[in-house]
Amino acid sequence: MSDRILAAVMAGPRQPIDIREFDRPALPPGAALLRTARSEVCGTDVHLWHGRLSGVPYPIVPGHVSAGTLENVRGPVHGIDGSDLREGDRVVFFDVHRTCGRCRACAVHRTPTRCPHRRVYGITDSAADGLFGGWSQAIYLEPGVGIARLPDRVSVDDYIGGGCGLLTAVHIIERATLRPGDTVLVQGTGAVGLSTIALARLCGASTVIAIGAPAPRLALARRMGADLVFDLDASSSDQRLETVRGVTYGEGIDVVVEAAGSARAFEEGLMLARDGGRYVVAGHYTDAGPSTVNAHHQINRKHLDIRGCWGSEPGHFLRALTFLERYAGTVPWSAIGERTYSLNQLDEALADAEAMRITKALVDPWASA
Ligand SMILES: [Zn+2]
Ligand SMILES: [Zn+2]
Repeated sequence: MSDRILAAVMAGPRQPIDIREFDRPALPPGAALLRTARSEVCGTDVHLWHGRLSGVPYPIVPGHVSAGTLENVRGPVHGIDGSDLREGDRVVFFDVHRTCGRCRACAVHRTPTRCPHRRVYGITDSAADGLFGGWSQAIYLEPGVGIARLPDRVSVDDYIGGGCGLLTAVHIIERATLRPGDTVLVQGTGAVGLSTIALARLCGASTVIAIGAPAPRLALARRMGADLVFDLDASSSDQRLETVRGVTYGEGIDVVVEAAGSARAFEEGLMLARDGGRYVVAGHYTDAGPSTVNAHHQINRKHLDIRGCWGSEPGHFLRALTFLERYAGTVPWSAIGERTYSLNQLDEALADAEAMRITKALVDPWASA
């Protein structure tokens, strides 16, 4: 790798992506430089491009989940999986860094994903600070970043196909306190919803139902483990409620997961959950506007347990790797990543993601197109 590194920069909302050259960074002790093999364009990147996330220090190098090979290590550097890391290792890293461990969110409430000091590669790190995103030929891994070896049997495309959606899904299943035999309904068939379907199935759900669109994502939802899928555009909420009650002794669903980011989806989820059920809300990563709730009928009398799910922790990252190592041969995570784009094609990738023409766009920063 030369001393000049190419990266795609998002200068601000709705700005065309431009390619800039960065100097190869000097590494302090404990830091590493990752040669990027793959990164991704996820729903968050579309939100960033729309300017719908607060506190983003544009210009940024997007791409918060990435995989590659360690190009330089100023060692010793230890992985959070317990490994000693060396140049040439195939690794991935946890995108959240600088979680402080000392603030009230971290130390008192034990909710580290709400730590005000935490930063996220590709989202809350500025390009002015360096190569903190995956839409780049190399990524600077500062001291303290959680790095792990990619298990030999896991391909880069499996890892990035799961990507941030798989980490989120691990957290969702944890928040849901899923029990063997639970019925699970997932609203949304994007990357988060698809991985949630797979994990619910692997974690012992009895029936897994998905609501989503368009048709190719519904076909993939079935391959990920859904027993029953509803096309959002071809069925009414009344039809869905009637069908769900028909397969649950008239009760409704044990665990509903919102991974759609729609105010209407939240209203429907309250109806689909059974009395005493659990409802995990994970898709409202940006403000999708208010929902109408009847607190008496839908929460209080229903004894409903509603749980938010924000971000992920190092344990979710490591357990996502464990799932991939064990199940990548049987769960088609690599199929979520539908097309690979070069740095020069990222405007097109964002437009394709925005229009839902593809399930997930992958980025190969070394491709020459
Ligand atoms: Zn903190
Ligand atoms: Zn993401």
